[in-house]
Formats: sequence, structure tokens, C-alpha cells
Amino acid sequence: MAEVKYVFVTGGVASSLGKGIISSSLAKLLQSRGYNVTIQKLDPYINVDPGTLNPYEHGECYVTIDGAETDLDLGHYERFLNVHTTQANNVTTGRIYKTVIEKERRGDYLGKTVQVIPHITDEIKRSIKLVGKTGEYDIVITEIGGTVGDIESLPYIEAVRQMKWDEGLKNCMVIHLTLVPFLSASGEHKTKPTQHSVKTLLEAGIQPDVLVLRTEMELTQDVKEKVALFCNVDKGAVVQSVDVSSIYEVPVKMLEEGLDSTVLNRLQLDLKDDPPLLAWRDFLEKQAHPKSKVTIGLVGKYVELPDAYKSIAESFAHGGAANECQVDLQLIHSEEINPENVKSQLEHLDGITVAPGFGARGIEGKITAVKYARENNIPFFGICLGMQCAVIEFARNVLEFEKADSTEMDPKTPYPVIDLMEEQKSITYKGGTMRLGGYECNIRKNSKAFETYKRTEIIERHRHRYEFNNKYLDDFDKAGMYATGINPESDLVEIMELKDHKWFVGVQFHPEYSSTVVNPHPLFVNFIEACCTRENIL
Ligand code: GLN
Repeated sequence: MAEVKYVFVTGGVASSLGKGIISSSLAKLLQSRGYNVTIQKLDPYINVDPGTLNPYEHGECYVTIDGAETDLDLGHYERFLNVHTTQANNVTTGRIYKTVIEKERRGDYLGKTVQVIPHITDEIKRSIKLVGKTGEYDIVITEIGGTVGDIESLPYIEAVRQMKWDEGLKNCMVIHLTLVPFLSASGEHKTKPTQHSVKTLLEAGIQPDVLVLRTEMELTQDVKEKVALFCNVDKGAVVQSVDVSSIYEVPVKMLEEGLDSTVLNRLQLDLKDDPPLLAWRDFLEKQAHPKSKVTIGLVGKYVELPDAYKSIAESFAHGGAANECQVDLQLIHSEEINPENVKSQLEHLDGITVAPGFGARGIEGKITAVKYARENNIPFFGICLGMQCAVIEFARNVLEFEKADSTEMDPKTPYPVIDLMEEQKSITYKGGTMRLGGYECNIRKNSKAFETYKRTEIIERHRHRYEFNNKYLDDFDKAGMYATGINPESDLVEIMELKDHKWFVGVQFHPEYSSTVVNPHPLFVNFIEACCTRENIL
């Protein structure tokens, strides 16, 4: 078996420069050249996984098919590469320490003082190589979270330094992403922050092989040459990444800059054929030249931080392009919706989505939004908590179950139409204990769900503790709200639909986690199609 090649991506100067997008774009290009590539994210925080983090902290928690709660960058990896990631693709400092401490308690290090070097760094290296060892990949790209110089990321940087010697210099390389600001007062791009950032890496024993410079405006050849000279890298290995309007343009930009060929040369791998990126370019073309436009409201309570709904927003971008339709996704704060103002808040929308979420805050606004969509025949798409809100609304206003609720919001409700799953009742630990990851669902024919998926068996990803209470299934069915998707093993309701409505579908799962550029999720595609009428044509 050929040796696995490791590419590390570090960041300097500022956070949020888009290491995830650069890693994903490089991976996409290498994949298009015929290599099997995966991407891994190492996060320097002490939470074992981001499942316990409030979305205001780090944005959405992304869930993989094997049920890992992970950083939202894994969503980008899957959306770009169209391949699944797993728990092994996201490691945090918390997980590293937890493993090392468990080994220590088991007696694995008996007699030794357990230290950051070598024990923590060995565990980091083991986690990196675990992905490579599956035999599935030619190249593993590992993104190091944070910014070089942070105390938290030091052990990771040290592990990268050691990896270069363990795996051989031709099998490991480092790409460093920095910011080159433009000072309008002097009319110049400034390279000093990049020089300092590279110096910080050098102090840790790492000479970067490639520099990717984020910039608002094109850099001149002079600037690139100056960076090359001062930072001790090859001229051809200084790559600019200019701001673009869609993240999906970045692979094409990186191809123009030759990032993929620079990497392959450095790793002594064949260039193979130029990547055609046909499906990718087709997507970009459709995204840039829409034939219609719809306005969709996303009702949620984390609207101050759009990253909290990253995968939903991207799924709308994919589904929009598939329909050659520009989706204007408007985030609407659920706490600001009430029965008096709902019309003025929502009447301009072509479709309404109610977002996932936890806890009681903003729930009544979501339920009011569902009522408005149901009564006014506006296409409605409820995701996880959004589906649960649709069930509660129907119970209260159609079945006339007064004070019907989810026991998450009102544990004493007389009509617990959404209730805790039986296996959840004894769980007190919060980390990793929800119903997580891929579960099967059987779809009833003669439903919107069947029209959408065009098959009866699907697998979708989950992240919830509560579920539809099957005690009420008959009541809902008789009144016109049907369970059209059921888990074959547990009988849990996965999809609820209204019969006499243009498009009204609630799903207990998270379709947004599995939508990709070349494989947009059918529910988003179909929902956008339903939102688009003659008036929406441009
Ligand atoms: N809070 C709800 C539950 O736990 C919904 C979760 C979600 O929307 N992801 O079941």
C-alpha cells in the first residue's frame, strides 16, 4: 500500500480566515484529480465535542452519519467532497485528554510521569493517523483550529512538527493561511503580520511549505515575492485567496492559483489529469444565473449568529441552484413573532421554515408562524423542533387539545403530543446522549415525502431527545395530519404532513446535514420548487 500523505493547514494573523473552506477547496481539487482525500479538524477547546456548546459559541453542531456531534467545518468538508465524515474526523483537546487520562487510570503508562510531550502529542498523532490507517485515503488534510501562537494549540503544532519526522518530509507538508490587510491611508498591502505569524510557526520548529494569503483585493506579484523572500518559501508556493461572493467559487480560484499542483509536487505525487470540475462548474453557473427568485423565512431563535443555521443556509443554496432559483433566506427571530404581528412579519414570504432548537425560548413565536403557514396555504418546512412545533400547533388549533405541548417546554401539559423518548428518561449525562446519527425511515406512498424522495426507504441523521407521542397518532390521522415516515424498528414518527395543503412537511431528522453541492437534498429542492410560482420568475 502506498504511503498516506498528510497536509496540515494552520492559520495566523486573525481567526475566521476560512481554513475550513481552503482545506475543502484543496481537497475538492485533489479529489477531482483522482485522489482519495479526507479532511480532519483538530479543535483546541476542552469540550469533548461541540454537542454541549450553545450555538452562540461556535455556531451549529454538525452531526455525522455515525452519530458524532462535530464542528461545523465538517459540514463544509462533506458539502464540498460529497463523502461522509465520521467521529475520527473531529478531535478536540477534551477528547485527547480524556483518552490519555483513561489510559493512565487503566495503568497503561504505569510508572511513567504523564506529560504533554510525549503522551498528549502521541495521542494527537495517533488520532491523525487513525484516519490515514483506514486504507481509504491517499491524502489526509488536517485543519488545526485556532491561530498559531494560541496557548491551546501548542500541543497540536508540536505534534505536526514531530509528524514531519515520523512520516518523512516528502509525506508531510504545512499550508499556512494568513491575512494580508490593505491600508488605504498608505495605499498598500501589508505583509508584516504574515511575516510575524510565520516567525511564530518557526519558533515552534515548523517551516510552512505553502502560504495562502487572504486578501480583499488582488495582490501584486511584488507583494507575493516579498512574502516568499521574507518567509522562506518558494515563490510559486505563495497563493492569494481573494474575497469571492460564494464560498463555492474558492476551488476554482485555487485551481487558477495552482494550489493543488503545488501541493502534489511538494508531496511527490503525480498531477494526473486536470480536474474538470464539471458538476461543480454547472452548479456555479446556475447559482450565478438564476431564472427565478424566492424569499424564504427561517424562523429561529439564534438569528443573531447565522452560523447557527449554517447547514440549512447551505442546503438552500444547493436546492436553489438545482431549481435555477435564487433563494433569499431571511432569518426571522421567533421571539419577535406574536399573533398580532405575524401577518406583517411573514406575509411577504414565499415559504416558511421553522428551525431546529432546544428549550422554551421563542417557541410560541415558532408555533404562531406554523399556524400562519398552515392557514394561509404557504409552503412550510419544519426541521426537528420545527416539526414538533407543527404537531403542537395542529393539536392546539385543529384537534382543540388545549395547552397541548412538548414535555420539553411544559412537563405538566395535559396533552404531551411531543414527549421524551422512553430510552431518554433515565439519562442524566448531557454529552453525546441524544438520539444521534443515521436511522432508517420507511416512507408511505401517496405522500409529499414519497414524491420528493421517489423511494420508500431512506436513512437520515438525527439529533434530538423528544419525539411524536404515538398515543395520538389516530387523532392526527383522522384530522388530516399524517405520519408519512416511520422508523421501521422503533415505530418513531419521522415525517408528518398535512393533506390539504400546498406543501406542509415536518421532519424529525436533519436533512440539512446531508445536502451537498453535487447532491442537493431532495426535500430542500422540492420545497423551493413548491415556493416558486409564476410571480417568482425573473
Ligand atoms: N429540542 C428538541 C428535542 O430534543 C428538538 C431538537 C432539535 O431541533 N435538534 O427533541
